[in-house]
Amino acid sequence: MAKLSPVKCPYCGQSFQREDTDFVQLGRRYAHAECVEEVNQIHEYMKKVLGGSYSYTKIESQIKNFATKEGMTLDAIYKTLIYWYDVKKSSTDQANGGIGIVPYVYSEYLKYMKSQYQNAQINKNKNIRDFVGQTPTEIIGKATPIRKPRHIKFYELS
Ligand SMILES: [Zn+2]
Repeated sequence: MAKLSPVKCPYCGQSFQREDTDFVQLGRRYAHAECVEEVNQIHEYMKKVLGGSYSYTKIESQIKNFATKEGMTLDAIYKTLIYWYDVKKSSTDQANGGIGIVPYVYSEYLKYMKSQYQNAQINKNKNIRDFVGQTPTEIIGKATPIRKPRHIKFYELS
């Protein structure tokens, strides 16, 4: 049987075979089902944060840009936003309906997560696996009803 030609996910930029991957068709493109889920999570969150100024098209193109050109994971984009708006309580005045802030505060987010992890280690001798499954707000004890991201990249902590 002839194989379908590989397709490229517009969110993570990775090619995949439709025969052995869960995917979602978006117009004429195909994306990993997992990526779509993570992208939707970012949209839902930003809709809540930005309210009426939220721009779907702007955020959609920024997500693709950060993930494919800046090399960020979708999970990292999402968590950086939680850090910036839920943990730091930053203003949305400069947001202009989008998430352009992400590349500028990403390294600050990583530093924050690293220090939170070290504190957790000192205080409770926690296993790294207990820690990385949590969002920043859960770590500092202000749980918000946001689903836990499933994919944690360990290199982000170093
Ligand atoms: Zn993907």
